[in-house]
Amino acid sequence: MLVSDVHFPKDLTEALDILRKRPGTLVYAGGTDILREQASRGLELPAELIYVRDLPELRRAGLTERFLEIGAAVTLSEILELGEAALPPLLAEAIRGVASPTIRNLATIGGNLASRSRFMDSWPALACLDALIELRDQGGATWMNVNRLVGADGRPAFPEGALLTRVRVPIERWDAWLLRKVGLSDYPAPETAVFAFSARAEKGILVEVRIAFAGESALRSQALESSLIGRSLPLSPRESSSIASEYRGLASEFGDNLSLQFGALVDGALGLLSR
Ligand SMILES: Cc1cc2nc3c(=O)[nH]c(=O)nc-3n(C[C@H](O)[C@H](O)[C@H](O)COP(=O)(O)OP(=O)(O)OC[C@H]3O[C@@H](n4cnc5c(N)ncnc54)[C@H](O)[C@@H]3O)c2cc1C
Repeated sequence: MLVSDVHFPKDLTEALDILRKRPGTLVYAGGTDILREQASRGLELPAELIYVRDLPELRRAGLTERFLEIGAAVTLSEILELGEAALPPLLAEAIRGVASPTIRNLATIGGNLASRSRFMDSWPALACLDALIELRDQGGATWMNVNRLVGADGRPAFPEGALLTRVRVPIERWDAWLLRKVGLSDYPAPETAVFAFSARAEKGILVEVRIAFAGESALRSQALESSLIGRSLPLSPRESSSIASEYRGLASEFGDNLSLQFGALVDGALGLLSR
């Protein structure tokens, strides 16, 4: 049996020091995803683990006029407890869809975004909200848009060796939004994916629209979003269904079932703008 060395740093400085001296150490937050992948009776974990869920710097959450900032080790339940006044509804809906309350009490937002096996449920919402993440590694601190967590092949591309420390979500007005989880409820089935949509209009003109879809891969099309901006509302049924059909085509790699559902969700979401 392999015995792992588990490090319990007291603060962020010590954690970064351990990660610098011991590259390859597995970052362990709530452990819900790491342990989910353990099918055998005895746990098989890497030689070194670093437990980050109690790091004080990663446990804070705060709201300013311009953004909501959430430490990477804040649990999904704690995020929901921030309440409607602080939490963008799109993100709240995504988090409510994750597993069960028991899992959400352990699971952190950092672990949800840093998974390399697939896109977890918070990514599409945070992508539509244009959230930023702070990453720390040997080179220092970097802020990155969550949309950059997608590799050229559409698969998760969380940077190797980086510690996610904070998530910053801009506070903006949205006139329409929609979040839907589709596919099998057995998590994490390859056919499970999350759809997120947010849009804003000024004087009857669409000025911002964001559409993200992710499961094992992620899809967001700047070209299609830009093609919608500047259009007068309401969109005609023909305009909506033509955009939906383009998204369906782009999503063909998700398989017939998911791409059909994605197209229908785009159509339905654009329909919200006509109300
Ligand atoms: C029964 C069950 C059902 C589930 N259902 C869902 C679901 O419906 N939707 C969903 O999205 N997820 C689901 N999950 C997966 C998981 O619970 C969540 O994704 C959760 O948010 C992961 O967070 P965690 O803190 O437990 O991550 P961990 O398991 O600790 O870590 C997950 C990954 O992220 C890395 N990591 C963690 N924190 C950091 C950090 N700060 N910096 C860098 N890397 C980090 C770890 O090294 C690991 O690779 C489910 C899990 C279980 C067991």
